[in-house]
Amino acid sequence: MTDRIREFLRNRREDGPCVVVDLDVVRSNYRAFARALPDTRVFYAVKANPDAFILQTLEELGSCFDCASVQEIEMVLATGAGAERISYGNTIKKERDIARAYKLGVRLFAVDSREEVEKVARVAPGAKVFCRILCDGAGAEWPLSRKFGCEPEMAVDVLEHAHRLGLTAYGVSFHVGSQQKNVEAWDGALASAAAIFRECAERGIALSMVNLGGGFPTRYLHDVPAASAYGEAIFCALRKHFGNRIPETIMEPGRGMVGNAGLIEAEVVLISRKSEGEALRWVYLDIGKFGGLAETMDESIRYPLRTPRDGDNTAPCVLAGPTCDSADVLYEKTPVELPLSLAIGDKILIEACGAYTTTYSAVAFNGFPPLKSYVI
Ligand SMILES: *Cc1c(COP(=O)(O)O)cnc(C)c1O
Repeated sequence: MTDRIREFLRNRREDGPCVVVDLDVVRSNYRAFARALPDTRVFYAVKANPDAFILQTLEELGSCFDCASVQEIEMVLATGAGAERISYGNTIKKERDIARAYKLGVRLFAVDSREEVEKVARVAPGAKVFCRILCDGAGAEWPLSRKFGCEPEMAVDVLEHAHRLGLTAYGVSFHVGSQQKNVEAWDGALASAAAIFRECAERGIALSMVNLGGGFPTRYLHDVPAASAYGEAIFCALRKHFGNRIPETIMEPGRGMVGNAGLIEAEVVLISRKSEGEALRWVYLDIGKFGGLAETMDESIRYPLRTPRDGDNTAPCVLAGPTCDSADVLYEKTPVELPLSLAIGDKILIEACGAYTTTYSAVAFNGFPPLKSYVI
């Protein structure tokens, strides 16, 4: 918690849970990424937190942007950033959205199939495309599995198809899985990328770019390696697989850019037990899975919790949200330790909530308004 956030919360008068993001932390994260890989352009993954002030701040620092929809592209353009700073990184796009992005000036598109290449070729003539390859996500707390990307062998055909249709076959992308705690995780994907570069070269197609994706972690319960450690490991892997012919690279940090910049203030609504004499308490907050904490799904992301009674004796609790859906339980398989003195009405701070919270919050499930967001 930064002093600025502490001060903000002290003066806040509105009711209900809120997330507060400190832009100073975002600035310092951006600079750490830029320093970690000085020759790599940073494309902030807008989906992590598309708040206008965050986008504006990153625009001023010189960041580029990875967008997944026309709406995200429009949000970035509204900051004054030129379309040449935007990548349309979703491999699943409606053809008319590709056309709209092209009309807005976007020239860089992700694909992972021949079918998607054909859409791009029809409505975005001459654009640059990069092909996303599958990555197993090992070592990630929020793996992105098999939904995006194709097998590396197929990527060569996808890129050749793009080349034949008059597009610029530009490069290769991958995502090693979000909250990736292993700095070596890029090595295997970069080996595949280098093999695709070689195979394309044999077919007369010179690729230019490797998109290193996101995956850079934020600190939740445990320390994570610094951006510089990722930079060193990635640079080593680039040298190992590309030798002296290191391609242009870009990276797309999302969680690592904003995760630790914000926290949620929530309130304890109820503390109860399921039977008389049972030790396990159920603690219900005024925020849950549908209020923005969707990444607690399968208890994947475990947020650090702070209470006004930290230091008192603790005991395990099930932590749940306020809605009338029984899926709205945050931690039950592995309960959380909370002070025995915790009381109804206490404020709880949920740390490292700057990424993947506000936009996951439901519009009005059970009538609860979407998560309030303050960027300071
Ligand atoms: C979500 C996403 C990112 C950001 O991932 P983080 O793990 O949050 O850094 C980057 N690139 C693409 C294509 C994504 O879909």
